[in-house]
Amino acid sequence: MSIVRTPTRVVALAAAVLLALAIAVPVSAEPTSVPGGPYAPEAQGEPNRSSNLSFEEIEEELLHLEQRSRGALDVEQVGTSGEGRPLYTAKIGDGDTRMWIQGRIHGDEPYGAEASLELLKRLIAGGGNAGDVLEEITFMVVPIYNPDGSEEYQRGDVVEGIDLNRDWVDFQATESRAFWYAWQDFRPHYAIDIHHQGMNHQGAYYEGDSNRMSTFSVGISLSEDSLDGDHRYDAIRQMGVVAAEAAGKRGNVNPTRYFPIDIPEGVVSAMLLGSPGPEGEDPDWETAGMFFESRGGIDQKSRGYLIGQNTDALWGVIDAVAADELDDVDPDAYWDIPPRGAAITPSDKFPQEY
Ligand SMILES: [Zn+2]
Repeated sequence: MSIVRTPTRVVALAAAVLLALAIAVPVSAEPTSVPGGPYAPEAQGEPNRSSNLSFEEIEEELLHLEQRSRGALDVEQVGTSGEGRPLYTAKIGDGDTRMWIQGRIHGDEPYGAEASLELLKRLIAGGGNAGDVLEEITFMVVPIYNPDGSEEYQRGDVVEGIDLNRDWVDFQATESRAFWYAWQDFRPHYAIDIHHQGMNHQGAYYEGDSNRMSTFSVGISLSEDSLDGDHRYDAIRQMGVVAAEAAGKRGNVNPTRYFPIDIPEGVVSAMLLGSPGPEGEDPDWETAGMFFESRGGIDQKSRGYLIGQNTDALWGVIDAVAADELDDVDPDAYWDIPPRGAAITPSDKFPQEY
């Protein structure tokens, strides 16, 4: 009997270990130098969500802005999330150059939504050069790509349980299908995807080998090999250069360059590659797309500048595109942006968790 039982037990044990592993593996496939994420360690309590907008608040603000804009801003529902929430795009501008900006594809990375709304507010208010910008550029803004995941404060979507930023090949999730068609219809020349490189108590990094904290990174989601020969390779590096420069004007941001990744199934990657749609459609379009990453350590105190560094960086790109100056930027200056350094752990200089 024992001869029979032993292998059965071993198999059962192996199955239990596999199950535990399957549960423990986060939805994220994005490399991170912080083990154990994306959840805040228990000792540090629940993530502080009081400083983040809820889906309802974002929706309300969006519809309010549309009303206030007297026809300038066109908010459209392009689909429905897995759990039935509206998926919105917000379009503004009359320019021939088209720019796509999206936030909160990862539900636990909040400020892409806030930064998107701040941008819309400024465009609608019409201060500074907003009027000129809207003559040059038409924007399609997606403040909240993943409303269900955002409400659960989790990275992936809720119904499929996948990372939506890895779904522009298989299109498992309804969000991916809706936004692919919106993208293909809009045919943007440029795209920026706004993330956080950590959650509440994680995700602050040094600027290169220095002892300075970097709170903002710019990144490209395809490898040099994947992009070799792509004429948009220059544009995305030029976007990174002007975005980092603009964000760096704010004190203590110390912009860095995100470490190399290669995720062809990611949204801005698929935009860059002109990847086929949900039914295998040829989009007949490619977009110069890159991403921003803000540090974690999200709380009421850091809220203002974490959102502000994103809007600064967005305006860096917007101003360069509107003035037709992006092409003048040396794409190789991208490599002069300091690389993102090691993760910051509590020390004399940074006594708290970030
Ligand atoms: Zn993210």
